[in-house]
Amino acid sequence: MSRAHATSRFTVDLDALTANYATLKAQAGGAEAAGMLKANAYGLGGSHVAAALWAAGARSFFTAGVGGAEALRQLLGPKADVYVLDGCRRDDAPRLIDAGLIPVLNSIEQIAHWRAGGGERRLAALHVDTGMNRLGVRPEEAADIASSGLPVALVMSHLACGDFENHPMNPRQLAAFRAVRPLFPNARVSLANSGGIFQGPDYSFDMVRPGVALYGGGPFGKPDQRIAPVATLEAEILQVRDVPAGESIGYAASFEADKPIRIATVGVGYADGVLRSNQPKGQVWFEGALRPMLGRISMDTLAVDMSGCEAAQAGRFVELFGPNLPVDEAAARAGTIAYELLTSVGTRVERTVNSAG
Ligand SMILES: *Cc1c(COP(=O)(O)O)cnc(C)c1O
Repeated sequence: MSRAHATSRFTVDLDALTANYATLKAQAGGAEAAGMLKANAYGLGGSHVAAALWAAGARSFFTAGVGGAEALRQLLGPKADVYVLDGCRRDDAPRLIDAGLIPVLNSIEQIAHWRAGGGERRLAALHVDTGMNRLGVRPEEAADIASSGLPVALVMSHLACGDFENHPMNPRQLAAFRAVRPLFPNARVSLANSGGIFQGPDYSFDMVRPGVALYGGGPFGKPDQRIAPVATLEAEILQVRDVPAGESIGYAASFEADKPIRIATVGVGYADGVLRSNQPKGQVWFEGALRPMLGRISMDTLAVDMSGCEAAQAGRFVELFGPNLPVDEAAARAGTIAYELLTSVGTRVERTVNSAG
């Protein structure tokens, strides 16, 4: 039985992913590069991303949620180090131990859950908050934890402003992190996310934890020559129509043509992750040019100005982001960040993975 194809498709280029992995690892000098796989690898598909990173030499992986971490353990086998970012909640310890997972302990309370649940002598990671106030123990709590004899394999912290090229938070957090480090002489240490890797060699320590730059987002929230595009979102033109001057397009009649125009109705909408906040700046790429979206984004469709473009025909595909329209630029036009665009791609979008190697 043949199935009608979807009107939108999402393609992941695993060769570009592994090229980015190599770039980030080289940029981090001698440090190990772990793969950040939370949220189904930023929406790209956790299992094929994990397998590709493993093949590229990655041996440490971070994810959020015990369930996803268990699946990673199954997929990657016993030799991978699988870290759980949300740590050890009240009843997590037995499952973490069963699957040989490493919790990133985020509070004194989590340390107690880990110890009480059987983790007393097992290696864990410790998250020290150096200024973000999200997860992690406070630096002043670290000395007591160190002297308690908890076996800490990795001490890590996270930068609040790693994606800013010159933000005073970065040196401040670096200094706070350095002050904690001597308390754990036997532990490895890790501070840098994608942006942190590009803050200078001091930020790389033993391990870096890139996420978005693996997946094609620039480390500083804008397109970056060093990072290859990995994910492409495309959608099919369903209909081309001529709109006379004075008529409006779409819900709320919020766009009015001031001259005769030709538009394409494209089969992708906010249910697929093309945010309504694309109005009024959103664009698509088609036949060598960026072309503006017009009017409101519907659930299943959006309108694009194709005036003067003979090639615009039903059945052709336009690019929402990808090699011709960087995901950072598409995100900025919708008032958000690449992370949100990548993780918003909807379930009915057809998914394909490409790899030559
Ligand atoms: C998400 C995350 C990262 C990766 O951040 P990117 O900005 O995507 O590189 C690294 N460390 C922690 C703790 C994270 O939560």
